[in-house]
Amino acid sequence: MAKPKYTTHLGMVDILPDESPKWRALEQIIHEEARRFNFEEIRTPIMEQTELIVRGVGQLTDIVSKEIFAFEKGDSHYVLRPELTAPVVRAFVEHHMEQRGGSQKLYYIGPMFRAEKPQKGRQRQFHQFGVEVFGSDDAVADVECIAFMIRIYKRIGIQNFELLLNSVGDPESRENYKKALTDYLQPHYDRLSDLSKNRFEKNPMRILDSKEPEDQDIIKDAPVILDYLNEETEAHFEKVKAMLDTLGIQYTIDPHLVRGMDYYTRTAFELKSPDLGSQDALAGGGRYDLLVEDIGGPSTPAVGFAAGMERLMIACEELDIHLAEPKKVDVYFITLGEDARKWALKQLSAVRNEGLSATMDYMGRSMKAQMKDADRENASYTVIVGSNELEEGKFTLRNMKESEEEMLSLTDIINKLKKLA
Ligand code: AMP
Repeated sequence: MAKPKYTTHLGMVDILPDESPKWRALEQIIHEEARRFNFEEIRTPIMEQTELIVRGVGQLTDIVSKEIFAFEKGDSHYVLRPELTAPVVRAFVEHHMEQRGGSQKLYYIGPMFRAEKPQKGRQRQFHQFGVEVFGSDDAVADVECIAFMIRIYKRIGIQNFELLLNSVGDPESRENYKKALTDYLQPHYDRLSDLSKNRFEKNPMRILDSKEPEDQDIIKDAPVILDYLNEETEAHFEKVKAMLDTLGIQYTIDPHLVRGMDYYTRTAFELKSPDLGSQDALAGGGRYDLLVEDIGGPSTPAVGFAAGMERLMIACEELDIHLAEPKKVDVYFITLGEDARKWALKQLSAVRNEGLSATMDYMGRSMKAQMKDADRENASYTVIVGSNELEEGKFTLRNMKESEEEMLSLTDIINKLKKLA
């Protein structure tokens, strides 16, 4: 086939009709589980102010320094959202959502944009679902986020994952730790990768996140933040662990887990799957107790996570999990002649009014071609309509799977099909 003139941008993919049912099925699961957790949905615009993302996610992060799609129009600086925590915090502050009372337990589903080098499990437009809980600094909020995240995977049948857990400390613990870390790294500075040298002054903790081979030996023996937590942060971390134990949620402490955004404080976590290859992170999150205030809102503790939906789909493929049933239509009207077509067109509504799906040929094809099409559409039943049938008021209802036929009036047909709905 000739190469089309127009294609999607690099790293951006169409979700075609064969794929969309599984996306819808996944979205339904997320909505359903969110309802069970009493989380409320929030939908924010695809574009935000560049300044919000730079401020919220962090100037020195990979996302902001390399990956945002940003442009200007008039006096405004637009950015396609690379993640949703900063936008949801913006919405929380802009709409004074704390005034709704209690903790705000929000969830979202939607596309995000990052100008990354595309590969399996890494796209430039991808989808995330996630949760942001505002107003509670109790470990219950952290653990409910983790429980929600895990429940989605378990419900789908993805059991094989590892929950990595760390505390990245509060500002006081972090200051102490940063000093210990830079003291440790200083003598190794010359051997660090250029990327890590760059991070050394500005954000040394991100060095722990380095994937550069030359850094690995150095990172391996670095001091860990868990030894520098102050009493309060340590107590919070202990509570999170104890509650996870209570729920029977297994985790591995990973003292080098720092995550890619600057806003995290205290709890940080990541869910990894061995079924994903090199892009093995299914989801990640943590606390960001300072971000709301940082963006101009009232001091509000918060915690959340984001999960990659394409990665979840890849895991399903690897595990041969089918999120959606194969496509089907309940009734296909097979028509012979213009009168039959007109009549069938009208009856489609009657069938649809009963909650069933119904279709007919749009192309004026032969009976044989219509039969073939009904098969291709995976029709459960066909109703054959010709001039004789119209005269007699009885039609052939064919059960496609059983290859059984009977002659019935339309009322009887509808009554019979209603039982299917
Ligand atoms: P992050 O917002 O970076 O913490 O990412 C949360 C989750 O989103 C990751 O664990 C991945 O599952 C997914 N994710 C992040 N970036 C991409 C991407 N470029 N393409 C596909 N999925 C992604």
